[in-house]
Order: sequence, then C-alpha cells, then structure tokens
Amino acid sequence: MEVSRALKSPGQSFPFEETLTLEPMEVLSDPVSFEDIHVQGEYLCAGKARISLRAEVSARADTRCSRCLTPVSIPMTAQIDAAFDRAPDPDDPDLYSFEASTIELTDAVRDALLLELPLQVLCQPDCKGLCPVCGIDLNKGTCTCQEGAEVVNPFSALKNIVLNEEV
Ligand SMILES: [Zn+2]
Ligand SMILES: [Zn+2]
Repeated sequence: MEVSRALKSPGQSFPFEETLTLEPMEVLSDPVSFEDIHVQGEYLCAGKARISLRAEVSARADTRCSRCLTPVSIPMTAQIDAAFDRAPDPDDPDLYSFEASTIELTDAVRDALLLELPLQVLCQPDCKGLCPVCGIDLNKGTCTCQEGAEVVNPFSALKNIVLNEEV
C-alpha cells in the first residue's frame, strides 16, 4: 500500500480500505485458507520513517474440524495495531519493515488473523470425531471398536480379579 501522502504530512491520519489474498497455510497440521480478506482502518506517519496503522480485518477461514476433519468455514474479525519502520527492531514483533513509500500489509494481516483463529476448530460443539481404531465418522455411524476397549476399563479388570478369588 502506497503511503507517500502520510510520509509528507506527519501526524495526519489517512483512512484506507484494502482487499488482499494470503497463501493457504498449515496451522497445527490443519490446512487453513483465509478468504475474502477485507482490511479497513487508518494510518499515519509517526516520526521520521515510521508508519502507525490501526485496522479491522474481516475474513473467512476455510479449515477443517480438528476431530472429524469435515470442512469448516469460520467468519472472522481481527484487529491490527501495528507499526512499520524502515529500520525494523528484531526484538519488537509488532514492528514490520517497509521500504521507500510502500507498506506490505500481508504479514500484519496474517499475524492478526492467526491470533484470532480458535485453537481447536470444531464442526459442532459436541463433535464425536473419528473412531481412533477404524476411522469411521462417529457423527454419522457407529462401530464396535469402543466395546472392545472396555476390557482395559479398571472396573471390569477389578471384577475379573474378584471372580478369580471366588473360584
Ligand atoms: Zn467434527
Ligand atoms: Zn471403530
């Protein structure tokens, strides 16, 4: 985004509105694609070679349920409160670099969206997930794998011990 107007008028804020695209990425081994990204806010020149920017991002995250892997789309909003500097400080993660009179919103937008992405995306709050043994989607069907798993239940093991003592 071209910011030469702000660089020429330090302290004066300029509204902006941008749409942008991000490459699909992987978050905790789940594929995530942010679509329909819309950024709206304002920026100003705050000092010699620094641009301060505040904006609201809206987007849709296309990902999958972390339990049953069904595709899930989540509408999202995120806030950006970032600074861009020609001489970036590696110790300040909210400081992005820029060159000449163009700032690149991509990194700030991606960071803001990732921060708002739920740690665990579910298709429904009580998603039953996939059977760890046969892989069937337990929201759509049942299997008998879990019945076999009851053998390791401590209470049934206890019952066996009691029975053995009676014999
Ligand atoms: Zn699910
Ligand atoms: Zn199963």
